[in-house]
Amino acid sequence: MNDIKIVKLDVAGQKENSRNIANVYKEVFGSDPWNEGYKCPECVNDNIYPLSFTGKFCPKCSLLGKKVELDEYWPVKQVISDFNNEMRKTGAICCIANDESKVIGFAWGYDMSVNEETDKHLEAPGLFKIIGRKNYRYIDEVAVLPKYRNMGIGKSLVTNICKNDNFQPILLRTKYNSPAFRMFLQFNGKVVLNITRDRVIMILNP
Ligand SMILES: [Zn+2]
Repeated sequence: MNDIKIVKLDVAGQKENSRNIANVYKEVFGSDPWNEGYKCPECVNDNIYPLSFTGKFCPKCSLLGKKVELDEYWPVKQVISDFNNEMRKTGAICCIANDESKVIGFAWGYDMSVNEETDKHLEAPGLFKIIGRKNYRYIDEVAVLPKYRNMGIGKSLVTNICKNDNFQPILLRTKYNSPAFRMFLQFNGKVVLNITRDRVIMILNP
């Protein structure tokens, strides 16, 4: 991690870096293990293709004799807008990892009090029943570009996001066996619920 710097962003920094963050987001979640690069507007759920996919049209629809153009799964504009919305939430915090001045990773999170609504928000039916009404520090996103993984950058980012004086337990929603999943296991995080599309909800007590 020699020249990698972790920077906590203030509001101006969030604005300044939002496009770079969105580009990293697109690259990370568009490749393995998520592969959310492109989606077909006509096919049902889970018909996704990685960013490395070079076809313009949906292969499944092509088999049915239809030419349907694939959509970007995470358009940069939409990610920027989502990011700006998340940064307005209570306790919102974003840290980036810089290699020289290039953003190569980020993590962001905010405070979340779990209630009946949380089940819907996290697509996690039954979560409230299992973990009860409590305040958490929710890790919304953590991403590091592939060639910078396994260097402790994700760990530093998450540690910075989780620093808070309230000693809130940490809540994470991720894909089973993703880099974030494996990192949370190393921290002694526990899976509390398996949800759709191979996602899991994990909790880490401070
Ligand atoms: Zn299709």
